[in-house]
Amino acid sequence: MFELSPSTGYNALAMKKNVKEPCDFCDGRLEPRHVTVDCRRGGALKVIEHVPALVCNHCGERYYSATTMKTMEAIAKGDRTRKRFIRVPVSKFEVVA
Ligand SMILES: [Zn+2]
Repeated sequence: MFELSPSTGYNALAMKKNVKEPCDFCDGRLEPRHVTVDCRRGGALKVIEHVPALVCNHCGERYYSATTMKTMEAIAKGDRTRKRFIRVPVSKFEVVA
C-alpha cells in the first residue's frame, strides 16, 4: 500500500455511487472531477495527474473508487506510465518573518 500526502485529502472509502450524495465530513455536494495526486512510496514522491475522483465542493475532500485506488497503486509501483519529471522544492516548517 502506498501513502498519499495529507495535503491530497486521501480518503480510502470506495467512491460513492450516487454523485448527489453529500460529503461524509460536511454538507457539501460531490462533483466528478479529475485531480492530481501526490503519492509517496519508499521515500520516492510520484505525482499522478488526471485521476478521476469525486470532490466535495465545500471542504475539498476527495473520494476515489476501489478501481481507481488499485490503478494508482499500480502506477506508483512502476515507471511505465511516466510522462515527465518535475522539480519539487522541499522546505522545513519554520516561522517566516
Ligand atoms: Zn465536504
